Amino acid sequence: MREAGVTMVSVGIFSWALLEPAEEVYDFSRMDRILDLLHENGIAADLATPTAAPPAWFFRAHPDALPVDRDGRRMSYGSRQTFCPSSPAYRTAALRIAGELARRYADHPALAMWHVHNEYGCHNAECHCDESAAAFRRWLRAKYGDDLDALNHSWGTTFWSQWYYDWEEILPPRTTGAAPNPTHRLDWRRFCSDELLSLFTAERDVLRRAAPGIPATTNFMVNFSIEALDYWRWAPELDIVSNDHYLRSTDPESEIDVALCGDVVRSMAGGPWLLMEHSTGAINWQPVNRAKRPGEMRRNALTHVAHGADGIAYFQWRAAKAGAEQWHSAMLPHAGTDRQIWQDVVQLGADLEALAEVRGSTVAADVAIVWDWNARWALELPPSPAPNSASRTSSETGTRPCGAQAWPSTSYAPTRTCPPTAWSSPPAST
Ligand SMILES: [Zn+2]
Repeated sequence: MREAGVTMVSVGIFSWALLEPAEEVYDFSRMDRILDLLHENGIAADLATPTAAPPAWFFRAHPDALPVDRDGRRMSYGSRQTFCPSSPAYRTAALRIAGELARRYADHPALAMWHVHNEYGCHNAECHCDESAAAFRRWLRAKYGDDLDALNHSWGTTFWSQWYYDWEEILPPRTTGAAPNPTHRLDWRRFCSDELLSLFTAERDVLRRAAPGIPATTNFMVNFSIEALDYWRWAPELDIVSNDHYLRSTDPESEIDVALCGDVVRSMAGGPWLLMEHSTGAINWQPVNRAKRPGEMRRNALTHVAHGADGIAYFQWRAAKAGAEQWHSAMLPHAGTDRQIWQDVVQLGADLEALAEVRGSTVAADVAIVWDWNARWALELPPSPAPNSASRTSSETGTRPCGAQAWPSTSYAPTRTCPPTAWSSPPAST
């Protein structure tokens, strides 16, 4: 890591089963050793709460915390992010392990930033179970001021005999025989984003109480096809905005998507931000996962810097021997350091160190594009005159919007700066 110029490492993102082998039984021995090693080598820790992957013991004790799809099928555990966002049992367990971590490591010298959860909504943005239905009704009652007629008029429920006379009649937009009510779907999407946001803020607050002054982030997915969350509502809740960006392998001009997504993240951050994840080479979860061309990794990393990123990080440090992402590239590949990827990583570390003077700089945009998730949902949710076409980014449609240089928002533009404890050294690959 020192050779590659690494200054910070995200650690513990999916470690719940190792940190808490049984309910309220904790084993921090591995984490102690890792954080001590990082500190001894001058590397900071972006310490993650492991709540994106509850252990098997949790689901055996709380099977009702498993999510239900719109057809009424309850998922099984055995992967990641397979929990109901509205589950009280999940919330209790998540806040408990976050609190244990925070109390144990609040004063550890390696701790520079909290990495809350991981990629909220990547797999479980929507849950249609009865618990989520009740939470949806609570959200609606708050939104419409407990006025059911206001909801009926807003949704246009006179059409197709959908008028509601009791809040209990309202369900998640589960599978029905014909087209759903589009405003019902739109409010559902808003609720789902807010429900996950409430989990983030709850964890963040636990961490803040135990470790005041340590900034908290969670990695967004402003990417070519991710649309589950309204990040304009999320960004003001983060101490520093970070993003994950992966290329779509079938896109011949993927560099456009890198630039556009960098701009929208910069706008949400209101200043410098962090690239939390991208890849050194091939990924593992698309139909075709191609290796990056020579120089492509460096070009993309520097593009993120040019669009405001003050830190460049990767998933992952070392290629895994097993598990669902064993074929995902890494900074240190399966074959070791005698490979081009490693040499490119080391070169990039030197490149970023040479660019230290741009840290904290901002970009004055000449042109703006309004980007709004509510508008995108409203345009694309069925029934729609042209689903999945109205708001795709340039790299998806093959068209280039003129002057696509910035994505500022007039309503959300908080001023943020990078935490000095985390980024006092030059921006570097981690
Ligand atoms: Zn649910």
